Amino acid sequence: MSRDLPPEEFRVLAHELADWMADYLAGVGALPVSPAVRPGDVRRALPAQPPEVAESLEDVLADFRDIIVPGLTHWNHPGFFGYYAITGSAPGILGEMLAAALNVNAMVWHSSPAATELEEVTTDWLRQLLGLPAEFDGVINDTASSSSLYALAAARDAAFPDAHEKGLFGQSTGRVYASDQAHSSIEKGVLTLGFGQDGYRAIPSDAEFRMRPDALHAAIEADIAAGVRPVAIVATLGTTSSSSIDPVSEIAEVAREFGVWLHVDAAYAGPAAIVPELRPLLAGWQQADSIVVNPHKWLFTPVDCSVLYCRRPERLVRAFSIVPEYLSAPHEPDGESGRNLMDYGVSLGRRFRSLKLWFVLRAFGREGIIERLRAHVAMAKEFTTWIDDSAQWHRVAPTPLSTVAFRFVTAGADAHELDRANLRIVERVNRSGEVLLTHTQLDGHIALRLSIGNLRTTPAHVERAWQLLREAAEGEMASRER
Ligand SMILES: *Cc1c(COP(=O)(O)O)cnc(C)c1O
Repeated sequence: MSRDLPPEEFRVLAHELADWMADYLAGVGALPVSPAVRPGDVRRALPAQPPEVAESLEDVLADFRDIIVPGLTHWNHPGFFGYYAITGSAPGILGEMLAAALNVNAMVWHSSPAATELEEVTTDWLRQLLGLPAEFDGVINDTASSSSLYALAAARDAAFPDAHEKGLFGQSTGRVYASDQAHSSIEKGVLTLGFGQDGYRAIPSDAEFRMRPDALHAAIEADIAAGVRPVAIVATLGTTSSSSIDPVSEIAEVAREFGVWLHVDAAYAGPAAIVPELRPLLAGWQQADSIVVNPHKWLFTPVDCSVLYCRRPERLVRAFSIVPEYLSAPHEPDGESGRNLMDYGVSLGRRFRSLKLWFVLRAFGREGIIERLRAHVAMAKEFTTWIDDSAQWHRVAPTPLSTVAFRFVTAGADAHELDRANLRIVERVNRSGEVLLTHTQLDGHIALRLSIGNLRTTPAHVERAWQLLREAAEGEMASRER
């Protein structure tokens, strides 16, 4: 007797869920993109104690529909323009469902050979789509935060060859350099690796929010003179606030001159390299030692899926490999062995993440991906023309890809008033429930961001966002006149 759900019951529920998912994807645009809940609402609606006896899954599903779904921010909504907009595409969802059913764990090759090898195949396919050289070897992690941490760990071992055995105590100080626009995950990685906040140096960026190579050069020179050891330079291609693109070729020259590891954070912008006319934006990134690209961002793969490419994967393995006997491979008669993914990062267990990426790459193909990314860029470009043609709005940064940074401006208001006005505008727009935008700080002031990355977003959704923004701005101007 099976102690799991009887197969026939599972089949019925799985069909029901398949219907629910298809309806959700078809109708998500009609739901409020962000929920009308306050902190604690969802929690209070659920029992504080676990169930003593079995409950019917139909009851669980009812609560899922009535309590959980209304408490969600719908990232799969076509009006989702916040953070970096993403898509859990239908092919990706199907791959994810199968991964759950299989429940394999690709810790080592023999714990799930096909999962390990499909990860090798899909990351190499993606490498080819991105136009990166064959030396780059990919592994899949949960997030870019993990991928960058692992890259920095490899860089640390390269800079401090004794660190693997002895740790960092008693060593001279190390430093990691990234622009003042870099993602917070880089500094977090530096902290996690034990360099402390002193081990992180934010390099100033220029008027278009790109790292200044001259300032980087000067900072490294000064550090070396003071006995501080450079560990890694992190160039960001597609920064989080403005999607600015660091001059990676010039940064690579600095890295070469001082023999420092170059890590490229292209978590969002990386997939742009698949599109021929956008690839030049990333030119030079192939000189990096490591690169992170998130298929769960702008490549239609459900969260989580982050690919870390390393030019010398043995460096990663050196940083992380400890093999206890219970995990060592049975001796293969022919002496050949497969890859053990546990050696490429902190976690032992590995979800079968390549399956959903494989589904996405096959279901869309290079041509389909290019066409979809182009549509996002075209919608963002159109939005920038509206901003640029309007006296009340100002574009804060160039728009190389599908993310626009802009702000409301009006004569006679000081910068502080404008900050508050922009925050009120984004809040009012978001309260509509039709679209979701987020804000950031650029040049010390509030800027709004519109990020396009959802497959269901159409020009009509972007037009609606623009209309809501203008209405909110008119409200601001009317209240100033009173
Ligand atoms: C989103 C983003 C990250 C963080 O990604 P996670 O996968 O959520 O850790 C890091 N860097 C950049 C440039 C990003 O856009």
